[in-house]
Amino acid sequence: MNPADQLMQIVRQKKDRLIELTQALVKIPSVNEPPNGNEKPCQEFLRKRLQAMGAQTDLFTLDEIPGLRDDPFYNPGRDAVGRPDLVGVWKGTGGGRSLMLTGHADVVGIGNPSLWNNDPWSGALKDGFIHGRGASDMKGGLAAELIAIEAFLEWGELRGDLIFACVVDEEFGGMNGTLAVVRRGYHAEAAILAEPTGLEILPATGGGLQYRIHAQGKSAFETRKEEGECAILRMTRVVQGLDELEKARCARFRNAKYFGRYPIPAPICVIGIQGGDIQVGGVADKCWIEVWHQALPGETEAQVIGEVKSLFKKLAQNDPWLANHMPDIEPRCKWIDPCAVPERHDFTAVISGAWRQVMSREPELGGFMGATDASRLQLTANTATVNFGPTQRQIHQPNENVSVEELVITAQVMALTILGWCGLTNESMKGKER
Ligand SMILES: [Zn+2]
Repeated sequence: MNPADQLMQIVRQKKDRLIELTQALVKIPSVNEPPNGNEKPCQEFLRKRLQAMGAQTDLFTLDEIPGLRDDPFYNPGRDAVGRPDLVGVWKGTGGGRSLMLTGHADVVGIGNPSLWNNDPWSGALKDGFIHGRGASDMKGGLAAELIAIEAFLEWGELRGDLIFACVVDEEFGGMNGTLAVVRRGYHAEAAILAEPTGLEILPATGGGLQYRIHAQGKSAFETRKEEGECAILRMTRVVQGLDELEKARCARFRNAKYFGRYPIPAPICVIGIQGGDIQVGGVADKCWIEVWHQALPGETEAQVIGEVKSLFKKLAQNDPWLANHMPDIEPRCKWIDPCAVPERHDFTAVISGAWRQVMSREPELGGFMGATDASRLQLTANTATVNFGPTQRQIHQPNENVSVEELVITAQVMALTILGWCGLTNESMKGKER
């Protein structure tokens, strides 16, 4: 049996441990409730696990990193007290490349509990699926990473360094945890982020901005409607305009590398709307909408905002009121940079090779719709970061779950990637047939 097959077999033999670890993680309700969170027990549990696996561990909060709050990538307004990030390091013997396996400990809330068929924190195993909040986003992925590392270390000796990083406060656009890991000094040449990707290798990641558009009108009682200017009417035109902008953007990105194959590669989603005052009646003098505006690799915040402002200018050509009362754009999150692993990077080839060995066919590479922490690693540490994990099943919804078989495959691909990227020492190659 060749080394890759041996390693795949060892991972498969650990299926029960993989199930148990995923269940144990799901049972810890590490809910993110911005600006606070409850990740500490999960991080302490993982630290013990890392120590048992022989890692050098580091558990630290943002406040222990000098200057982090002044970092241009820092996302203000989130609390870090009692919310430690966790790193484990296994040093290689040298001569190999370094790899980080990473993910986030926090999960979103359970929403309405009556919509769940089971206890959201049960981790129940049923018909090959593990159930509970965080099962696929992303405690299953974290468990797969640890089982991949465990399998590799039992089997061989590393040449390159291996780093496991589990951060807090990722959901709802947090991203400070991964920044903290980098600024704490943990850098790797490549990384796998175990977000649920449907077992697809996604070397590119969307970004974007959530913002509010405020339209201004002029109030008037309905008997003197001619004296008023309706903010809601203006906003309906903005909403129509955003829909057309989305279509134009999607046409432009139709052939974009990694994203072109999706039905709506660059969504502009109007999430909510509010306007007028029904207690008072008459012409509405205010209206706002909230928007998620997805950006693709190569786009900047200034470009995205510029496109929306051009839309306002176009609408104002036929509307003197609008021309004198341009809508405001109020950012509701920090801009999330889209990113991509550089073209023809060796890491994409290595993880693709690992995938091919496990799946016995060619992988189709894509881009992650929505944002992940990949951009923090890619842009602050120049780490080639690939999103890779199991299928999204009911993530951020009731009855979240994850496929056990997919977790095994995820761990196998990760273990073979460690082999292909970090490498095996000559000493531990002995006795392993080629
Ligand atoms: Zn996630």
